[in-house]
Amino acid sequence: MKFEAIIIGAGAAGLFCAIEAGKRGNRVLVIEHNAQIGRKILISGGGRCNFTNIHAKPENFISKNPHFCKSALARYTPNDFVELVKKHRIEFYEKKLGQLFCRESSRKIIEMLLAECEKANVEICTNCTVKAICKNDFFEIETNQGIFYGKNLVVATGGLSFPKIGATDFGYKIARQFGLKIVETKPSLVPLIFSKNGNFGKLAGIAIDSIVSSDQQSFRENILFTHRGLSGPAILQISNYWQKAKAVSIDLLPNHDALELFEQNRDSKQNLDNFLGKFLPNRFSETFISNNFQNKPLYQLNRHEIETIAKSLNSWQV
Ligand SMILES: Cc1cc2nc3c(=O)[nH]c(=O)nc-3n(C[C@H](O)[C@H](O)[C@H](O)COP(=O)(O)OP(=O)(O)OC[C@H]3O[C@@H](n4cnc5c(N)ncnc54)[C@H](O)[C@@H]3O)c2cc1C
Repeated sequence: MKFEAIIIGAGAAGLFCAIEAGKRGNRVLVIEHNAQIGRKILISGGGRCNFTNIHAKPENFISKNPHFCKSALARYTPNDFVELVKKHRIEFYEKKLGQLFCRESSRKIIEMLLAECEKANVEICTNCTVKAICKNDFFEIETNQGIFYGKNLVVATGGLSFPKIGATDFGYKIARQFGLKIVETKPSLVPLIFSKNGNFGKLAGIAIDSIVSSDQQSFRENILFTHRGLSGPAILQISNYWQKAKAVSIDLLPNHDALELFEQNRDSKQNLDNFLGKFLPNRFSETFISNNFQNKPLYQLNRHEIETIAKSLNSWQV
């Protein structure tokens, strides 16, 4: 029951850590309270695990210490992971912008990690609940399956999201027990929910290529209307930077200067919603105009109206 390293949590981080420690000839044990390992990996990437991004760089990581990930990423690059995936003959494809997904299922990544664990002689104990941890000469991990002793202890029990599939605040509790500083947590990569529905519910399902900005950060990708607010890759990204009291600015026409478009069509007899339907999904332009403006032919718009509408298209404040 004595190990060089005990790792609590058989998720992506814990399993990878176990493989590396095992490869170095250490006796390694992974403790997992679920019956299965890697449940979050299974649901990742919509079931196809977006396992890496070939353009991932230190700048893409958010940290109070931006240098923290530099050495790790220098020693293990996205390409190293791609090589591992290829070695296990897992088929994959680039969805877009360097995002690599499994062609079949996320399960392939779990199988790969399990095979690597086996090769590195890693022992895995599932359905194992930790009752208490204390440290004398060794870390003593008291569980429902006995007491395990570890020279080193790695807590890889993940973040707080998705408690349904086993996420807990265990890591934070242990950090507190051992007097480690904790950075306050906040939701990350999440959809935004409108405080007032704003009549946008009927737009659910519409995606628009946009530039989304907040707190001096911008992302160009799709936004997706949902029944409760906004989601889609650009919104998920900006959620990391958005602060409660501040607006998120959305450029709904990133390829056009809306003011210029109106100027060029000053004399048009087309109604606003029809005109915008050339650049945006019809259902969106109809609702956007009826929610915010009077729908009338372009030639009837005065300068102030044109400026206001153009601004709300190139810089919609949510
Ligand atoms: C819906 C969704 C989709 C995602 N898609 C992607 C994607 O496509 N690509 C990507 O890179 N990332 C994706 N992510 C993020 C990614 O899943 C996580 O960043 C990653 O799984 C974190 O790994 P981890 O090992 O730190 O934590 P986790 O995967 O959460 O693993 C922690 C493990 O610890 C176990 N555990 C918790 N408490 C205890 C305890 N007390 N005792 C024993 N075991 C415990 C848990 O059961 C779990 O198995 C997605 C996340 C979600 C929620």
